[in-house]
Amino acid sequence: MLPIDLTGKRAFVAGVADDKGYGWAIVRALVRAGASICVGTWPPVLRIFTKSLERGKLDVALPGGGEIGLEKIYPLDAAFDTQADVPEDVRTDKRYVELTAYTIQEVADRLRADFGEPCLDIIVHSLANGPEVQRALIDTSRSGYLAAVSASAYSMVSLLQRFGPLTRPGGALVSLSYLAAERVIPGYGGGMSSAKAALESDTRTLAFEAGRRWGLRVNTISAGPLASRAAKAIGTIDKMVDYYRLNAALPEANTADEVGIVAAFLCSPLASGITGETLHVDKGYHVMGMQAEPRLAPE
Ligand code: NAD
Repeated sequence: MLPIDLTGKRAFVAGVADDKGYGWAIVRALVRAGASICVGTWPPVLRIFTKSLERGKLDVALPGGGEIGLEKIYPLDAAFDTQADVPEDVRTDKRYVELTAYTIQEVADRLRADFGEPCLDIIVHSLANGPEVQRALIDTSRSGYLAAVSASAYSMVSLLQRFGPLTRPGGALVSLSYLAAERVIPGYGGGMSSAKAALESDTRTLAFEAGRRWGLRVNTISAGPLASRAAKAIGTIDKMVDYYRLNAALPEANTADEVGIVAAFLCSPLASGITGETLHVDKGYHVMGMQAEPRLAPE
């Protein structure tokens, strides 16, 4: 038996606010493998997340028994590197005003203060935001495009820049990408396809740079569609899931847990030879060159 063993490792998972998305599934897989987990949650949804957790409204059950327990929840707005970047209207927003630290640098400083340095083995980037995602790229404003790339792609660079020094030898970062980085996905607009293309390209460059600097591996998972809260903003996510179910090489929808387990594998010593990789976890949809259903599927 070759188990994914992350006993004694600490992960920071950025982009968890409910139990419906890929971030939560990655948390579940990492906990199953024995890691302790800190999460970073976007301030606008922090309260609802912590209340849901306290009131037992989230699916914390682990297969085979036991429950997901989080070591610590940090507020994190990955669109900001330091307090100097935070505009006045955000700083004084009621969801931010009582928080003392939520920029990427401040969260790195809090981790260092809470656990010492080095204190991290795994960094997960599972967040994206494109305010104009429903607009075709050709109709996207400059500010919408830059906001998508800032929150969804540069955030990974900044996270690695600031959390990398906290990592222990053998560390790994994994992020979540989507096929729109490499193929046309109508409806995935607002510069989000550009952000995912940047994320995948940066995965390669950062794999080299972080590999040389900290011995840290950097990979991304190109995941199939999932009806998460963020994906619902696209407006067509249920159709996308159905389309994949009909047309992927394996004619079924991928589950969040399938992605979570691959993330745990990529962050484990079993994947010590893999870095700079974009790994598709989409039931083989990405290899298709033509619609399979309704008439062309094999008999
Ligand atoms: P999700 O809603 O579970 O996760 C997205 C998270 O990003 C949310 O928790 C949200 O609060 C957070 N977020 C948004 N802006 C932020 C900011 N500025 N700072 C910090 N956090 C912020 O949805 P998901 O679909 O599981 O998304 C996770 C990742 O998976 C994203 O990178 C997404 O693009 C990617 N992905 C999703 C799909 C899909 O179909 N759902 C497919 C491929 C890739």
